[in-house]
Amino acid sequence: MNEILEKRLNFIEQIIEDDLREGKNGGRVATRFPPEPNGYLHIGHAKSICLNYGLAKKYCGDFVLRFDDTNPAKEETEYVESIIEDVKWLTGDDLSNRIRYASDYFEQMYAWAEELIKKGKAYVCNQTPDEMRDNRGTPSIPMKPSEGREYTSEKNLDLFRRMRAGEFNEGEYTLRAKIDLASPNFNLRDPVMYRIVKADHHRTGNKWCIYPMYDWAHGLEDSVERITHSICTLEFEHHRPLYDWFLDNLDNIWRPHQYEFARLNLTYTVMSKRKLLELVKGGYVSGWNDPRMPTICGIRRRGYTPESIRAFCREIGVAKMNSIIDVVKLENAIRENLNKVALRRMGVLRPVKLLIENYPDGQMEQIEAVNNPENESEGTRLVPFSKTLYIERDDFMEEPPKKYFRLSIGREVRLRYAYYVTCTGIDKDADGNITQVRCIYDPTTRGGTSADGRKVQGTIHWVEVNSALSAEVRLYDRLFTKENPDDPQDPTDYKVYLNPDAFEVIHDAKLEPSLNTATHEQRFQFERLGYFCKDNINAANGKPVFNRTVSLRDTWAKIEKKN
Ligand code: ATP
Ligand code: MG
Repeated sequence: MNEILEKRLNFIEQIIEDDLREGKNGGRVATRFPPEPNGYLHIGHAKSICLNYGLAKKYCGDFVLRFDDTNPAKEETEYVESIIEDVKWLTGDDLSNRIRYASDYFEQMYAWAEELIKKGKAYVCNQTPDEMRDNRGTPSIPMKPSEGREYTSEKNLDLFRRMRAGEFNEGEYTLRAKIDLASPNFNLRDPVMYRIVKADHHRTGNKWCIYPMYDWAHGLEDSVERITHSICTLEFEHHRPLYDWFLDNLDNIWRPHQYEFARLNLTYTVMSKRKLLELVKGGYVSGWNDPRMPTICGIRRRGYTPESIRAFCREIGVAKMNSIIDVVKLENAIRENLNKVALRRMGVLRPVKLLIENYPDGQMEQIEAVNNPENESEGTRLVPFSKTLYIERDDFMEEPPKKYFRLSIGREVRLRYAYYVTCTGIDKDADGNITQVRCIYDPTTRGGTSADGRKVQGTIHWVEVNSALSAEVRLYDRLFTKENPDDPQDPTDYKVYLNPDAFEVIHDAKLEPSLNTATHEQRFQFERLGYFCKDNINAANGKPVFNRTVSLRDTWAKIEKKN
């Protein structure tokens, strides 16, 4: 997993190396990935996982997957399970003994809250959320104080204990930190630490009816776990003074530090959990694991490998400036990886029959084909060949334009690995549709080379008719047609930009028979077509389903050039 970090030190590695040199944190490095279990992980989270996990690995430190499960209203066990599966898959680590839940620290956090109350640094406030908003002031006008600010510690302690005991209703009271009502940083204007929420928690049930707010809880969670470098995204920069304030005002605790980096944004997709949820709930996609989704389970199902995502995260690096990364970078990362590992196979997506008129009736032979030209150790396989084959419908043209090097009447091409064939004619049905292409083969060209040095300009793929495996093939493309569908400057609803051509089903593709034993874990290149993998969820009426992970080349670049 060391390969996930760039060669040149990124700014966080520099900080860590300086800290290690100065002997800070007892020479220890500890990081965490802290998802809130309120949705599925996406490729942006992958960046954070690769960074945090990679740093711990590189510096022989500790890493934990911590569920930041402090909000009972939105969190579900389903999300916890999917997150564990995704992090395991991405890191290749079984995560044993590395999973933590913030809810396990509720009692400790509560004790620390009492400590602040006793020190006169926190108080119980009776303003409603609306009043608090109305009272917050402006940069030049301080926030209006709440009565609780002047209560004695004893009175605040009593009220806080009664909050915990369930004596009050939701919204009636909060616990707030007593910091600075005039601070130019609004996060410091006496932020809320606890609120009353009467909802069942996925782990603690109804034990609690007060729940800690993110800013209060997060540093404490880091402290309990003895995290050294708490890495989060840039939008938390203005929360850092608060993170520090809480930790600095508690006695005898481990002192972690927060660092911020730029979040990952990608073109042609959306990354906000709210929007992804909306796409799922609204039926715009088939679920969180729809292969068009930028979720980790979606791209896994689509056939992305963990190695390719780690390579992508390494390539884009870790910066302090927000930007949008071109999705081509992600697509190229998977192409590069699959080119090395994918087994080459032949499959015909839109078949038409090819009849070899001079091939012996009833004969079947086995043609040797290379499994992976990038990796000789993958060896070869035998592919059946007979008088009738399927070829791609668009590998034949009646009236070929210039530079069309595939089949047309009188033209000779190579059948990949097999023979040269010359097209002799076609058959059509009553509507004029081509039902069969006819040809003759040259038996001396077995293996796809001719003894007389005769060259052909086109090579096409094929599948033998009688042994062919029928399959459903799903072609996926980018989820949106617009580069930045959720551009804040654009008032149009982002869903308007959903790409109607992002999903196409081919019901009856014909694949070479060796694909009968394919597993979801295997990766294939269907020659000339793209990279595919067997779907791990669906079969279509007994037929296997194959998903296209990515095309062989970037076809969008061409389209964009044209426009
Ligand atoms: P929200 O907080 O709105 O529910 P979130 O995407 O921030 O959504 P979290 O569960 O809080 O979700 O995220 C877990 C971790 O992943 C956080 O440390 C967060 O900073 C990081 N993270 C989230 N989105 C990205 C992103 N696009 N790029 C990099 N890191 C991200
Ligand atoms: Mg968050």
